[in-house]
Amino acid sequence: MRTLKLLTILLLICACTTAKKLPQEHYYAFTYYFGQEQRNDSVLFYLKNPINCPINIKLVKDSLNADLHSYFGHINLPALRDTIIKINYPKFNSSRKSKYIVKYGDFNQKIRKNVIAFPFPQGRAYKVMQGYNGKFSHNTISSSYAIDFDLQVGDTITSADKGYVVGVIADYKEYGTSKAWRDNDKSNYITLYHPHSGLFTQYVHLNYKGALVKIGDFVEMGQPIGISGMTGFTTKPHLHFNVKYATAEQGLISTEITFENDVSGSDLKKGNLVKKL
Ligand SMILES: [Zn+2]
Repeated sequence: MRTLKLLTILLLICACTTAKKLPQEHYYAFTYYFGQEQRNDSVLFYLKNPINCPINIKLVKDSLNADLHSYFGHINLPALRDTIIKINYPKFNSSRKSKYIVKYGDFNQKIRKNVIAFPFPQGRAYKVMQGYNGKFSHNTISSSYAIDFDLQVGDTITSADKGYVVGVIADYKEYGTSKAWRDNDKSNYITLYHPHSGLFTQYVHLNYKGALVKIGDFVEMGQPIGISGMTGFTTKPHLHFNVKYATAEQGLISTEITFENDVSGSDLKKGNLVKKL
């Protein structure tokens, strides 16, 4: 009897570990083009921004071409714009391709905050599961002002403001609660850019194939954009909603916002029921 009990526990542990394994694939929110060519004494970099928001690009420091990254600088490339950067660099060593970092946003853009809508349909009411500076996972610079609403798997997510779809990941199926999941970005999410404010909004933990929009789409405030789910680092189904803006050193960081009906994000505490009128 005791052996049977042990076996059952072991089997349960095995089943759990298998189900919570991190996916092998890494999906990207958007794709971009970065070309490199050596011509005489110069290096040419071809940059293309295929999305409807600014992006910023810099080279990763490389021992082969130690100071090349400082000549390249940190470039803000406007929405849908291409450019060529030419750097006079006679000592260029081309034995490996330069690596680069691409992030959302123009970190010099002035942010004009406006009132936004709750990210779910009119008439629906949801509980706040975690608010600003929540101890469980709203404790980093990129998540401190996020709000978790208790949307169930299959519920509709709507756009908090008008803007462009600039990132979609909807191919993940699994979720997990371990540190490995927390440290890896393996959840489905949509990123919108709102040109009038300069803000980005993100809708995280979507269902597998739970995106109703694609990159390049323009969405109105309140338009259905996705189906809520349970993917990535999470213990219960919910929508992780986050408003962000671009910074030079830390990428997109989380920021406070005011919702419709004069509801400040800071007033939304764990357990509060929020009804969208
Ligand atoms: Zn969250």
